[in-house]
Formats: sequence, structure tokens, C-alpha cells
Amino acid sequence: MNLTSRIILAMVLAMAGGIFLKLINDSGYLGELGHLILIEFFTEGILDVIGQIFIASLRLVIVPLVFFSLVCGVVSISSSSRLGTISLKTLSLYLLTTAIAISVALTFALIFKPGVGIDLALPTAFEASEAPSLKEVLINIFPTNPIAAMAEGNMLQIIVFSLLFGIALKSLGEEGGSLKNSFEVINNVILSLVRMLIELAPYGIFALLFSLFAVQGFGMIGDLAKYFFLLVFVLLFHGFVTYGSLLTLIGRLNPVQFFLKVRSLAVFAFSTSSSSATMPVTLDTVKNKLGVKPTIGSFTVPLGATINMDGTAIMQGIATVFISQAYNIDLSLVDYLMVILTATLASIGTAGVPGVGLIMLAMVLQQVGLPVEGIALIIGVDRLLDMTRTAVNVCGDAMVSCLVAKSEDEFEIDTFHSKN
Ligand code: ASP
Repeated sequence: MNLTSRIILAMVLAMAGGIFLKLINDSGYLGELGHLILIEFFTEGILDVIGQIFIASLRLVIVPLVFFSLVCGVVSISSSSRLGTISLKTLSLYLLTTAIAISVALTFALIFKPGVGIDLALPTAFEASEAPSLKEVLINIFPTNPIAAMAEGNMLQIIVFSLLFGIALKSLGEEGGSLKNSFEVINNVILSLVRMLIELAPYGIFALLFSLFAVQGFGMIGDLAKYFFLLVFVLLFHGFVTYGSLLTLIGRLNPVQFFLKVRSLAVFAFSTSSSSATMPVTLDTVKNKLGVKPTIGSFTVPLGATINMDGTAIMQGIATVFISQAYNIDLSLVDYLMVILTATLASIGTAGVPGVGLIMLAMVLQQVGLPVEGIALIIGVDRLLDMTRTAVNVCGDAMVSCLVAKSEDEFEIDTFHSKN
């Protein structure tokens, strides 16, 4: 069996096994000893440890991976004006796809009205948390201390430092030759570490998903069924229809081939719920499966994992409409435009770790004067939605990487069409 099949098999077995164990545990058939062995020892003990170690090992490679691959990428770009074009294209595409995502989400939410009929009374008072100002956000992108940025894993700051370092190293010309070579070697060492981790993925994914489905209930869907299924539908719609169309129209690439190539990446994102932990795998997929040359991939992927969150924006759009309908608060057209703007910004500001999108939703709600308590309404069903939207977030990064690489002639079409 190849790795992709093993990853998918691991996901199916883990979900089926986990749900089955939860069912028999909830119905009391396990007994005290069964509970002790299967739940406490096996699931919450062994599997949880394996899952956590797997995520920790993925996170371990992120900072060196971004730094070395980005520096090597920048050094290999022929001119700084080309670097400017690539950055501009990447940023524009990331913003464009997020704006489409949120607009699609609002349209569907207004048609299907997920919150109508819930009729909640307005909370008397609510404490709004302070959203960072745009000014602060912009200043914070620039590191004052590269070591601190790396220690904290502040991705945007690391990206800025790596770009500057790469540009400076390139400007040394011949003199920088030996350092460039050493960077290439270190970069290859890290990439081979990533490969080793990916080989272990079926075990990691099994452990993560089994313990999640066996232990954690997903809350009562009940009144939230419409919200839940609408959100899943829009996420899938955006993933398949929007990305499929962009790949066909802009990239002139076969979308079916793209979806086949990213399926194990999507499973990865689904199991970890974190674009940032998935980043090493995204980088590997865009380079080795989709054919994006490292020059482009090493720039687009870390940036995408940090700022491009279409799935999160979709959740924020639908959740905003849901909450406004549940509290019977009407939003005006200007409010909806504000939602598009703030949800785009909020999704950029969302860290690629589990559940943060929901916290950032507070910023959107506040902007249009909706009660932040509304978040409590949907938190119970958010775990599974978080997993699904993370898969969309990550596939969006891979899609944009293909478009940028194709337009820059840094794309290996044979790799894209290959079987692996
Ligand atoms: N878990 C998401 C991600 O890492 C972020 C979020 O929407 O909570 O991409």
C-alpha cells in the first residue's frame, strides 16, 4: 500500500473505531475494567501520548524549515524585482480567495438562514475583548529580535527576517557562496527529517483521530444542525468549486488531478486542526507532488499557513449571520461589507492552531455590534468544523502556490501529472 492509502485507511479506521468505542462506553457496556483499559489506559493514555508527540515533532521542524527554505528560495530568485512580483501575486491571490470565501459564505447564509427561529434574548451586558489595532498588527510584522521571533514561533516575523537575510546573502555574490551551499545542505537535512515524519503519519493520524472521536463528544448538534451542515457544505463548495474554477481558469490545470494529489494533505490538516503544524507536509506536497518549484513553494507555503485562512473566513461569515439571526438583530448592507472586511483581516490574524478562528470571531462580531456571547452558542460543535476548515485553509495554500508557480514558469507539469 502506498503512503496516501495508508493515511486514508488510518483516518477511516480511527474514526470508525473511535465512534464505536464512544458508543459502547456511553451505553455503559464497557464496565469499570473495560473503561479503565480501553479509555483511560489505551485512548487517553497511549494514543494521546503518540498523538501529542507526533504534533510536537511536526512543530519542531517548522521554524528551521521556514528559515532555511525561505533563505534558499530567495537566493535562487534571479532578481529582487522578481521577488516583488512573486510577493505581490501571492498576497493578492490569498486576499482574493479569502474575500471570495467570505462572500460565498454570506450569500449561502442569507439564503438558508441558519439562525432563524432560535430567538435568543439579548444578553444584558457583555464584555468585549480588545481587538489589536491595524497599526499594531502592521508594526508587529517587523521583528526587533530574530531569535525571539524564532523562539516564539512568530511566523510573520520569521518570514520577514528570512526574506531580508536571503536578499542580503544574495547581494554578497561570490563571497556568500560557501554560506549558500551550507544553507542548501541544512535545508536538505530538514527536508529529509520532514520526510521521515511523513512516513510515520498513518500512526500519528490514527492516534489523534481515534482519541478525539472516542473521548470527545461533538456536542449536541440539535438546533445547530442547520448551521453545522450549511458550514460543512460551504467549506466543501469553496474547496471544490472555487478552487477547481481558479485552477482551471487561471492556472489551466486539471482540478481533479489537484484534488487527488492533496487528499492526504487534507487528511493531515483534518487530523491536526492546525495549518501551522501541517506546514511541513504542505511544503512537501506542493514541491514533490504538485510540482511547484522550491523557489516559489518556500515562500507561498509559510505565508499561506500564516495568513491565508479561507475556511476560517467562511466560518466567521456564517457564524456572524447565524448569531445575528439567533438574536434577531438585523444587519445592514454596510454591516455585511464590514463583515467581509473584518473577517478577511481576522482570518489573516488567526494563528494556524486549533480553535483560534473562533476566538477571532469576536473581532468580527464586535465590529458590527453583535453580542460576543453568541460564540458560546456554537462552541459545542466547533471541533469538527475546525478540523474541516483547516483542511480547506491548507488546500487553499497549495492551490495558490500552484497558480503563482504556473504563472512564474516555476512549475513542473510532469510532477503534477505523475502518479505519486
Ligand atoms: N485551526 C485553524 C487552522 O489552523 C484556524 C482556525 O480556524 O481556528 O487553520
